[in-house]
Amino acid sequence: MDSASGAVASDPNRGEGPSAAGSSAPAADPSSSPAPPSRYESQKRRDWNTFLQYLRNHKPPLTLARCSGAHVIEFLKYLDQFGKTKVHITGCPYFGHPNPPAPCACPLKQAWGSLDALIGRLRAAYEENGGRPESNPFGARAVRIYLREVREGQAKARGIPYEKKKRKRPTTTVTATTVVASASQGGDAGGGSGSGGGDGSGSGGASASAQTTATTTSTAV
Ligand SMILES: [Zn+2]
Repeated sequence: MDSASGAVASDPNRGEGPSAAGSSAPAADPSSSPAPPSRYESQKRRDWNTFLQYLRNHKPPLTLARCSGAHVIEFLKYLDQFGKTKVHITGCPYFGHPNPPAPCACPLKQAWGSLDALIGRLRAAYEENGGRPESNPFGARAVRIYLREVREGQAKARGIPYEKKKRKRPTTTVTATTVVASASQGGDAGGGSGSGGGDGSGSGGASASAQTTATTTSTAV
């Protein structure tokens, strides 16, 4: 009976260890520094700075306030030079091939998915930095249209669809409804008591709930 019960077992939840990966609970971290920004947040900040830098270097000079959807598109095209996605031109023998057997001279561009995600981050950053949603150039219709064109163009050029669309087949849907009508019992289940159901609202105050959390029960009688 060597019961060293409890005494030694200090709580194991000390904030050490590399575990607790996925837990979404905010682990109130007592160690000085605030939580580092998430990957998305830091990426967003980086993108925003890149864009501001782009504006600064723009010729003719361009301020954020004067920035339109057309400028955003210009920015996206500018970024293509840093892209890593091969987009075949129509004259390339590998146009439409997902896995070309040999290299070709077609340009590298930004993949549509990257641009789409980038625009989403910049759009958020714009408003977080005081921009009004109505004038958000990243949400401009022209930008959306441009992105769609890029997506469709790249899907064709690379032979990789970005979206699986449901194709409508030409009407051959044979709905085999085998109605098992054997032993027809007369009882039509659908029928009775269609009305009613009107009341029953309210009044259900004391529904058997064992919750003791409800603090504000302001029953105004
Ligand atoms: Zn090519």
